[in-house]
Amino acid sequence: MTDNVIDIATVPTKDRTRRLLSAELERIAARLHSEAEMPMAGVVSGDFLDVAQDIENQELARLSASRLLERARRLRLALARMSDGEYGVCSECGAQIPPRRLLAVPDAMTCIACQSQRERVGSVGRDS
Ligand SMILES: [Zn+2]
Repeated sequence: MTDNVIDIATVPTKDRTRRLLSAELERIAARLHSEAEMPMAGVVSGDFLDVAQDIENQELARLSASRLLERARRLRLALARMSDGEYGVCSECGAQIPPRRLLAVPDAMTCIACQSQRERVGSVGRDS
């Protein structure tokens, strides 16, 4: 009866990461979607919508649309790299990205050395 329940401890890390990335991408897409519809939603007014929009605005205040888009772009890239079997491999030097870094930054595309080098060059700003 519980055969279908997936024991989180036995799920391969990549599978778990893929789901994590997909879930976050979906959340971001939903937020961006609701923001895009805001002008239209303004036509309809009601207590429920007001409350829903207040919650939405709080979320958006923390993460601007452009940041959400950038995050979504990175998540999609990470998922694409996963499909290509390139996930977890540094896009700069081809080295294996340490699992600890992937845990902290699931959509990381470079190892720490390359990342800090890129940040020094100033081409890419990235929180990690
Ligand atoms: Zn590297």
